[in-house]
Amino acid sequence: MAYDANNIFARIVRGEIPCHKVYEDADTLAFMDIMPQAEGHVLVIPKVAGEDIHSTPPESLAAAVRTVQKIARAVKQAFGPPGIMIAQLNGAAAGQSVFHLHFHVIPRHAGKDLGIHAARQADPAVLAAHAARVRAALE
Ligand code: AMP
Repeated sequence: MAYDANNIFARIVRGEIPCHKVYEDADTLAFMDIMPQAEGHVLVIPKVAGEDIHSTPPESLAAAVRTVQKIARAVKQAFGPPGIMIAQLNGAAAGQSVFHLHFHVIPRHAGKDLGIHAARQADPAVLAAHAARVRAALE
């Protein structure tokens, strides 16, 4: 599949669509997942165009993983989950629904099932408050 330059994350990178941003550097962006599978679910993306693991340059992947580690630490500090799951889906068959490479950073608690993937939009005020908590933990 050819990369669609108008996919939702490409539009977020270009600032055409708002997001609850938690972190940005020259190569990467991190923001709250709008349909979180757990409280504190953050997405990390490289800014470069690439739909998945196969088509994203290795240096962009490396930059994204550096940001994933930063965000995982901040999410752990902000929400205190005993576990953090990192997920990255490639292809519709794997459950990918947005075709711009991204990593999910998802807090996990023993015995608590993961929410359904991309199912229900969270209250924007709650997402804004959660983003502020993660940003504070990054300071
Ligand atoms: P995936 O299925 O791995 O491609 O994940 C895409 C994720 O993007 C899902 O968890 C969606 O909830 C999330 N998502 C979709 N649109 C937006 C958006 N505008 N802002 C933030 N997250 C989004």
